[in-house]
Amino acid sequence: MGLRTADEYRRSLRDGRRVMFRGSWVADVTEHPVLRKAIDHAAIDYQLAEDPRYRDLFTTEEGGEPISRFYRVPQGPEDLLLRMRAIEAATTEGRTVVTLIHEIGTDAIFALLRVASACDGAKGTGYLGRVRALLERARHEDWALAVAQTDTKGDRSLGPKDQPDPDQYLRIVERRPDGIVVRGAKVHTSVSMNANALIVVPTRAMRPGEEDYALSFWVPIDVEGLSLVASPYLSSRRSEIEHPLSASHKMVETFTWFDDVFVPWEQVFLAGEVEFAGPLALSFVDFHRFTAVAYKLPLLDLLVGSASLLAELNGIETAGHVRDKLAQLAMYAATVRKLLEASALTGRTDSPGVFVPDTLTVNTAKYHFAHGFHEALRDVQDVAGGLLVTAPSWDDLQSEDVGPALRKYLRGAQGSADDRLRAFYLVTDLAVSDLAGYHAVLAVHAEGSLEAEKLAAARHFDFEGKKALARRMAGIDA
Ligand SMILES: Cc1cc2nc3c(=O)[nH]c(=O)nc-3n(C[C@H](O)[C@H](O)[C@H](O)COP(=O)(O)OP(=O)(O)OC[C@H]3O[C@@H](n4cnc5c(N)ncnc54)[C@H](O)[C@@H]3O)c2cc1C
Repeated sequence: MGLRTADEYRRSLRDGRRVMFRGSWVADVTEHPVLRKAIDHAAIDYQLAEDPRYRDLFTTEEGGEPISRFYRVPQGPEDLLLRMRAIEAATTEGRTVVTLIHEIGTDAIFALLRVASACDGAKGTGYLGRVRALLERARHEDWALAVAQTDTKGDRSLGPKDQPDPDQYLRIVERRPDGIVVRGAKVHTSVSMNANALIVVPTRAMRPGEEDYALSFWVPIDVEGLSLVASPYLSSRRSEIEHPLSASHKMVETFTWFDDVFVPWEQVFLAGEVEFAGPLALSFVDFHRFTAVAYKLPLLDLLVGSASLLAELNGIETAGHVRDKLAQLAMYAATVRKLLEASALTGRTDSPGVFVPDTLTVNTAKYHFAHGFHEALRDVQDVAGGLLVTAPSWDDLQSEDVGPALRKYLRGAQGSADDRLRAFYLVTDLAVSDLAGYHAVLAVHAEGSLEAEKLAAARHFDFEGKKALARRMAGIDA
């Protein structure tokens, strides 16, 4: 097989999965009015692989079989750059919302290849073969994958073993000859309700005494004991004209509850090796922050483009403060893009032959994006004006009674009032609406918090080398 069609993907989601939406179990996620929207959105990944305009970017070949580009294990900068372009294209098609169903799971698989190889080398475990078996199967059957890393975490000042409730981090509650039983819950799990399988990785480093929490494995979504409680955020119906981005595009996150789920050993990648929990958590985010920044690029380009468009329509393009804001937005978008490319170009090959983006650069890229995002929203809102939240509806514009007046008075410097309102609707959806709120929280929290990115970057900066430079310049003997 190797490649599935969008319809084959949709059909694959009709199984015994337990998904709850607003207090009711969903019999078939593909028929649910809200969840179906997220599934159609995710299907873009499969549609683009079939589309002659994108086929070369979205597919490649392995062992004589056509496969999704996302399943290619990066061998050098070129693979990462092509992956970046594919993510960017899918997110543009998804109108700033990432598809994620191939991206996040392969990020985890690449990390697992590295850490399983290191763990097997140090401890004689047999994990690498299991990771390769998952990769081959998922690639051959073109699976959609979700990744559950973030635990509920209870009291953030305490580690897993010190929590009053031992289930605040997902843990092994039973070890059997044929596998393990796991209990706990993960949160914010994107695309889990519309994936075929779920990969679990630790959320943090673990200490001795936390062996039951040093845990990684995969399960099919319909495994017994797994329940997904879907977030209702962004689920209201909306018009395509007034919400040109969010009317047809969304992701769904779930509260992901493991109520004593049995996992056979062949699906387990870490079970007690505490010293490898931290490296696995960090290795996953090396790849996942690369994915994250790649899918921010269309969002940043659209912020610059729509602010420029409204500046033109409002007749303020040449005003000094507007030119300054547009230049800031342009530099912001360009810096994030170039940092991401640099992280691919300066990456390194790690055992067992996986090319990894440069950790310092990719974390700097993600941090720079997240740190500047709210300021960028403010600048776009500033350039646009108050109609962002007070504009009449498209229905009002069609009214015989008020439509002519609206068309007369809501014209700007050029173009029709209709076009100007459409531009406002776009910017409202992009920079003011519940989608904008989603993007804003996504910027700060998803793929790790600002602090996590800063720490990861600082850990890879050569402070000692720079201190030595300062000593030399100061004439202090080393
Ligand atoms: C839209 C969205 C999609 C996501 N998708 C996924 C997904 O698919 N899979 C997945 O696994 N996760 C996913 N995440 C989770 C994301 O990685 C987390 O939100 C992020 O790691 C922060 O965790 P948290 O939400 O529990 O916040 P917290 O960890 O509670 O962070 C809140 C604040 O507390 C601070 N803080 C936390 N702990 C400490 C401490 N010990 N000391 C000092 N300060 C601390 C943080 O720095 C931050 O400022 C997603 C999140 C969002 C918003």
